[in-house]
Amino acid sequence: MKNPRVYVLYTGGTIGMQDRPLQPMTADEFHHVLLQFPSFRSHSLTIQSLNSESFEIEFELEQAVHPPIDSSSMVPHQWIEIASLILRNYEAYDGFVVLHGTDTMAWTSSALSYLLQGLSKPVILTGSQIPIVETRSDAFRNLITAMYLAAKSKIPEVGLFFNVHLMRGNRAVKVSTNAFNGFESPNFPPLAVAGIDVEVDRELVLPPPLDSDSLEHLENRQALIQKLQNIEKRLAEFSVVALQLFPGISASMTEAFMEFRQPPVKGVILEAFGAGNAPSGPEFLQKLTEANARGVTIMDNTQCLMGTVNIDAYHSASGLKAAGVVSAYDLTPEATMTKLIYWIGQGLEQAEVKQRMQIPLHGDLTPPRTESLS
Ligand code: ASP
Repeated sequence: MKNPRVYVLYTGGTIGMQDRPLQPMTADEFHHVLLQFPSFRSHSLTIQSLNSESFEIEFELEQAVHPPIDSSSMVPHQWIEIASLILRNYEAYDGFVVLHGTDTMAWTSSALSYLLQGLSKPVILTGSQIPIVETRSDAFRNLITAMYLAAKSKIPEVGLFFNVHLMRGNRAVKVSTNAFNGFESPNFPPLAVAGIDVEVDRELVLPPPLDSDSLEHLENRQALIQKLQNIEKRLAEFSVVALQLFPGISASMTEAFMEFRQPPVKGVILEAFGAGNAPSGPEFLQKLTEANARGVTIMDNTQCLMGTVNIDAYHSASGLKAAGVVSAYDLTPEATMTKLIYWIGQGLEQAEVKQRMQIPLHGDLTPPRTESLS
């Protein structure tokens, strides 16, 4: 049987950093570091186990961002470059690993989940809290398990592997600056847990795409590359911003935020209180009403890590609804932002953007229950 093949895209991040203050090494330097580990050879990784037969993963390591960066400098264009690189190399590999800084990994994993429509192979993002060159680093284990999942799992999803969990990419959020358990998926269980065995919960994994939509077909990949180029061209024409509410936020602050014009705001993530609540002052609500009337899609997210927005629960959210604000349900703010960019970037009108934001895409949100017992 042929060895599985994995394409590793290196973008930088702590995993590949050195010196003080930390800065990323190049992909060639990173590759050189890998060769100091006994299981790595130039283009292969041997997975040895006493319980089962050893096997080899063949891999290529590619620098996906030039120069490699701290992920706090990542921009939407680079999400598209990473997605395009995956598409151009799709056929030759069984899975893909994206090595990424942890700071904005949840945005990139959300974005890739939307950009890679028709995905039929695993795309696994990972990084580490301690650089790979340090003895106590978590990099080696994260990298090995991510490569293992990319090679073997056949999960047709974008996932984020960190510490012991494979999370759906558009459900993950960074929760710790220093714990090895740096990410959580607060509103959806992990797709896989890596203990002595790597156990995948197949019930949770999304089904493969329909054959007619699948990226297995060259014409679908070509069409998607074209679509991504069109989105990329449009990125300069609009802004999507996030506004975290706080006690005392004024109408004029809100207005300044919504009226940003270079390029004009087309989408807003309102990180509201609790179940999606906001101040009920008429001037504040008026600013939202005006922005909505100008064609801005305003999403009602929660600042809470867990749970969903219920825009009908409190009177204090009814003003938002009347102003045209749309519930983001349990979408993470990261997923909400990248989903807005994805739909607005396709030139859709506001009504359609609003509608599509509320439809689950690659398992990113839990639709509200239609019946609640009282
Ligand atoms: N600042 C780093 C980055 O996001 C943090 C990390 O990778 O852990 O690139």
